[in-house]
Amino acid sequence: MLLLNPGPVTLSERVRHSLLQPDLCHREDEFFDLQDEARERLLNVYGLAASEWAPVLLTGSGTAAVESMIAALVPEQGRLLVIENGVYGERIAQIAKQYRIDYEVVRHDWMSAPDLNAIAGRLDSAQKRFTHLAIIHHETTTGRLNDLASLADLCAERHIGMLVDGVSSFGAEALDFAHPALLAVAATANKCLHAVPGAAFVMVRHSALERATSRTYYLDLGRLAKLQAQRNTPFTPSVHAYYALVEGLRELEDQGGWQARHAHYGALAEQAGTGFAALGITPALPAAESSVVLRAYRLPPTMGYVPLHDGLKAAGFVIYAGQGGLSAEIFRISTMGSVQAADVDRLVSSVVKLLG
Ligand SMILES: *Cc1c(COP(=O)(O)O)cnc(C)c1O
Repeated sequence: MLLLNPGPVTLSERVRHSLLQPDLCHREDEFFDLQDEARERLLNVYGLAASEWAPVLLTGSGTAAVESMIAALVPEQGRLLVIENGVYGERIAQIAKQYRIDYEVVRHDWMSAPDLNAIAGRLDSAQKRFTHLAIIHHETTTGRLNDLASLADLCAERHIGMLVDGVSSFGAEALDFAHPALLAVAATANKCLHAVPGAAFVMVRHSALERATSRTYYLDLGRLAKLQAQRNTPFTPSVHAYYALVEGLRELEDQGGWQARHAHYGALAEQAGTGFAALGITPALPAAESSVVLRAYRLPPTMGYVPLHDGLKAAGFVIYAGQGGLSAEIFRISTMGSVQAADVDRLVSSVVKLLG
């Protein structure tokens, strides 16, 4: 079965075999060597300096990393503006509410790009100043790649720190870590890094960590960062998921880094889009506004999602439904994971057969 959902991904044989390494006690040197390698390789993906950035590992899915980032980095007296144009933006607002963080939301239609004027207006008209802004980089709900650059400038001018959910972009899309507004990016092992679920992480500036607060016990970013820097860990980590993360990161480096992965995904997305276009299946968003990681397509007029999904599953592919109100309108194809051009060819010919 080939997984074309946005994580967990189809593993390469190399990553799959990495799971079969020796059992490790997480209080022994061998585990801390593994943890150190994961942390160092995470910095290397975007060429970050250890003096500026801390890679903090967590055991959990991507949401654990996002929750840890939001709960720690908006201080007690801080105020958060959440930019929402999909399910994952909505999730950040729910996290903020759960932790009783002082927050507001700028809501958009799920097919729309963030409205910079509206965001600037909200920041500037606030009775009480916002200290932080949270945004999804790749909003997996629609495949939209939110433009972080102009938003980061807007934040920098107002001394607002930016917290980014990069769960479905880290490792395959450009991220400008040098921008002074960017304080942290949360992500996971089992999306663009091609490893297994169970390990997630936050890349966070030391300057932001110094001001971190502690609202949660298990997901306490500051504590995790401090202990990991000392070759330590507070709890039992998902050791095998760390094996896979390290192997996924080695493989990413061997394949040419995030830029090569970006190009590979882009070619596959283009190939699928061209194949679908010949069948009258159109993209929900223009390619220029989409990530290379996942594309949303309008369901063909002659077939609903369920028969399309079930027919493709019988042919060996798992595709992904639209979420919420979009479930009746779109389907999604993610090409993250061990997916090759020949797989996309087979996918397109399977759709041809189904619609034929
Ligand atoms: C997948 C995803 C998450 C996290 O989902 P989990 O199921 O917790 O791994 C968060 N944000 C975005 C943008 C995602 O695509």
